[in-house]
Amino acid sequence: MQPAIDQPPPDSAAAQDIVGCLECDLLVRVGLQRASHAAYCPRCGYLLTDATDDTFVQPFALALAALIFAVLAVSFPFLAVSAAGLENSMTLFAAIGSLARFGADGVAVATLAFVLLIPVAMMLGVVALCLLLRAERASPALVPLARLLFRLNAWSMADVFAIGVIVSLVKLSSMAEIVPGTAFWAYIAFTVTFLLAMTRLDRLTVWHAVDRLRAAP
Ligand SMILES: [Zn+2]
Repeated sequence: MQPAIDQPPPDSAAAQDIVGCLECDLLVRVGLQRASHAAYCPRCGYLLTDATDDTFVQPFALALAALIFAVLAVSFPFLAVSAAGLENSMTLFAAIGSLARFGADGVAVATLAFVLLIPVAMMLGVVALCLLLRAERASPALVPLARLLFRLNAWSMADVFAIGVIVSLVKLSSMAEIVPGTAFWAYIAFTVTFLLAMTRLDRLTVWHAVDRLRAAP
């Protein structure tokens, strides 16, 4: 059974140090005193928390960078293909739209959602969450926002898409000349900054900060 680690911990002080391992479900008491140290699962070695003093600065900056790269990724040509004297370039939206043109409407919608809409929404969520936590604003949106972010993390496939595109390029390069466009590099940068932002957003520190704000008078 998946541990309820994306839930705010119960209010008791003893329970606040307990975190469930995402890999093996072991409940581990990590302790708040190691605020600048990483804590690993004693059973499987999975990174449970990696809190740093500026926890919300790094994910905020990375998410902001990811959003800028996302804008670039949809604004410029993604790929240029030339074969037999014919040349064609397409944007990311056009590439996804061509799936719909060939009758794969469901695949097109899913691709758009998983490789662009969900990751971008998550980055907006990280920016909003970090701003609220840095400003120490006890907004009612804090808990649903943090819960949604950690749950959506399993549904973002930006990295899978980026790897898939690179593999396809290598395979297609024997049939046609393929030139990655500005948007391609922007999307790779988006994927990297997205992954780093979600890695640097420490679950335990987020929930402790949310708890602290909710408990404040
Ligand atoms: Zn474990």
